[in-house]
Amino acid sequence: MEDCIFCKIIKKEIPSEIVYEDEEIIAFEDINPVAPIHTLIVPKKHITSLVELKEEDTNLIGKIYLVANKIAEQKGILERGFRVVVNCGKEGGQVVPHIHYHLLGGKQLPTRFM
Ligand code: 5GP
Ligand code: ZN
Repeated sequence: MEDCIFCKIIKKEIPSEIVYEDEEIIAFEDINPVAPIHTLIVPKKHITSLVELKEEDTNLIGKIYLVANKIAEQKGILERGFRVVVNCGKEGGQVVPHIHYHLLGGKQLPTRFM
């Protein structure tokens, strides 16, 4: 995906503050954080959004949550608590059309979403 900003980050064509990387998944700090901890966890495979997920992606998506736990532990919020959010489509607030999971924490997050 040539014009995808997250694909460019994955290919290191755009710099980012990478906190985790393996063959299938990368995680980097959000450029415009909304919480003290705001890390994006992104599969390297270009999947446009949640609605594009295929049966073959289920293992990959499971691994995203294990990476979220790993990063939460590294950042010292595993016990305190955190939130993992995925926005989907226009009304879901998705801006970047490459599926990604927001790991949010480091403060008391609102108990309701809006
Ligand atoms: P969405 O609204 O699509 O769920 O979230 C996109 C997120 O990507 C936003 O929180 C935004 O701040 C972040 N973002 C957009 N462009 C860049 C970028 O070039 N680098 C990084 N690190 N984050 C970005
Ligand atoms: Zn992409």
